Amino acid sequence: MNVFFSSDISKAKEIFETAGFSKIIFQNDAVALKIHFGEPGNTAYLKPDRVSPIARLIRQLGGLPFWTDANTLYQGKRNDNETHLQTAHEHGYTSANTGAEAIIADEPGDQWGRELAVNYPHFKKLYVAAGALTAGTMIVLTHFKGHETTGFGGALKNIGMGLGSKLGKLKMHQDCLHCPEVKTCRKNQTLDACWFGSPELVQEKIAEYAAGIAAQFKGKIAYINFITDVSPNCDCYPHNDPPVVPDIGIAASLDPVALDQACVDLVNKAAGHDKFRALWPAVDWSVQLSHAEKICLGSRKYELVVK
Ligand code: SF4
Repeated sequence: MNVFFSSDISKAKEIFETAGFSKIIFQNDAVALKIHFGEPGNTAYLKPDRVSPIARLIRQLGGLPFWTDANTLYQGKRNDNETHLQTAHEHGYTSANTGAEAIIADEPGDQWGRELAVNYPHFKKLYVAAGALTAGTMIVLTHFKGHETTGFGGALKNIGMGLGSKLGKLKMHQDCLHCPEVKTCRKNQTLDACWFGSPELVQEKIAEYAAGIAAQFKGKIAYINFITDVSPNCDCYPHNDPPVVPDIGIAASLDPVALDQACVDLVNKAAGHDKFRALWPAVDWSVQLSHAEKICLGSRKYELVVK
């Protein structure tokens, strides 16, 4: 699968067009722009000036774009619709600033989301923030960076973990079969954050959510990764460390597995070693890619088309 790449980080709109994504934008079709608005205090998240040219282009093409993300399971400033939307606006994701509204993908107060029937090794049902599935097309816009549980956080994590409902997020993180607290735990009743699942298990579960959500769009889904401000950890923290490599560029593909693999390779090539393994030695980041490939979400083989 082709992965289109530009080292010019101002060329988001051009990469969108070069990758052929205009072909999946239709007149009056709602287009969900999956984004991570960034926890207040974090400065590495994807800023609106990088991505708003894409929203404006989609509008020119006749589509109806909106920014979206689902609420977090843990406590913070993106944990319910009201504070999440406030955070989005404070981080510049307003209609006036970007040409698209921010709409939180969960129904207000809903923690369960919509149930999707699937047939994967870990899951037969997924629980997804319902609003994300109302659009006809989805463009997944991802800040590519490190992550303590998955080694790196790319398109798979953005869509998979990012669009799970609170129940879905809990199910991706937990491993009740092996947990010593299972007899006393009430997290399933209260939907509290759980971090017990191993990095390998959580990565495989994320890949299954990503595959199940992508399947809902029947080919009308595309992915753009911004390899910029590559911080060691995710944008869910209210702080961030400095980038671990200089800004590398923007990459886009219809295949999220090929895209994430290409971005890992670009970062590691720039670093001269496996940067994500060095950052998180206990995490084998390749698990999410190999599991996604196994369940036919995409291929780790790619051709880099440099623009
Ligand atoms: S802490 Fe997490 S893994 Fe352990 S029993 Fe509770 S929900 Fe399950």
